[in-house]
Amino acid sequence: MKPTAAQGPSTPRPSTPRPPGVVPYITAWGAEWPLYPPPVTGRSGGRGIAYVDEHSIDRDEEGVLWARATYRPGQGRPEFGNVHPLRQRRAMQRMLCQVCGGPADRNERGVLWLLADHRRDWPGWPETMAATHPPVCLPCAADSTRACPHLRRGFVAVRVREPRISGVYGARYYPPNPFIGPVEHVVKAYGDLGIRWVIASQLAMELRGCALVDLATELAAADR
Ligand SMILES: [Zn+2]
Repeated sequence: MKPTAAQGPSTPRPSTPRPPGVVPYITAWGAEWPLYPPPVTGRSGGRGIAYVDEHSIDRDEEGVLWARATYRPGQGRPEFGNVHPLRQRRAMQRMLCQVCGGPADRNERGVLWLLADHRRDWPGWPETMAATHPPVCLPCAADSTRACPHLRRGFVAVRVREPRISGVYGARYYPPNPFIGPVEHVVKAYGDLGIRWVIASQLAMELRGCALVDLATELAAADR
């Protein structure tokens, strides 16, 4: 799985495509943000980081440490550009639309994604890309691009036949000294030992079986 350029440590994450005035399902709210990580310590034997007061629910089934987050959607201002860990994770696991939280669109060509256009990143992009933004439903994709013509230029619609949860996006701590604090944000695959030094805040999904599609054609087909 490959991170797209926009997920690198020195560049901002791509903004979430959304209809104007709509707060996407995965967006964090003021009462939920910022995330204050609890004190972190090193695990014995250089096996990565742990919370000082860690509970079993702090790790996922693969043993990866996750950011703790409060759940208060609708309270405070929307923090556009900041993603709520629990809702993003739920949307990825259940293939929910990142904007409305309903089921993402799926047809015989796969699940629908709106991706920031990085076709120059590698030949065949976005095949094998690690996506951290969940898919979308057709109505939300249509509202986003109809209301915002620039989205049509900056984003591409993609059908994905085989999306697969493959890793996490999160804050990487510096081995062997966890007390320096996080040094960068990275995408790490499950199975990469470096994931032990990461506090995950989003699930990453490897996109396989990708086909760029024309959203207007997709909408016309859905109307028939
Ligand atoms: Zn939607």
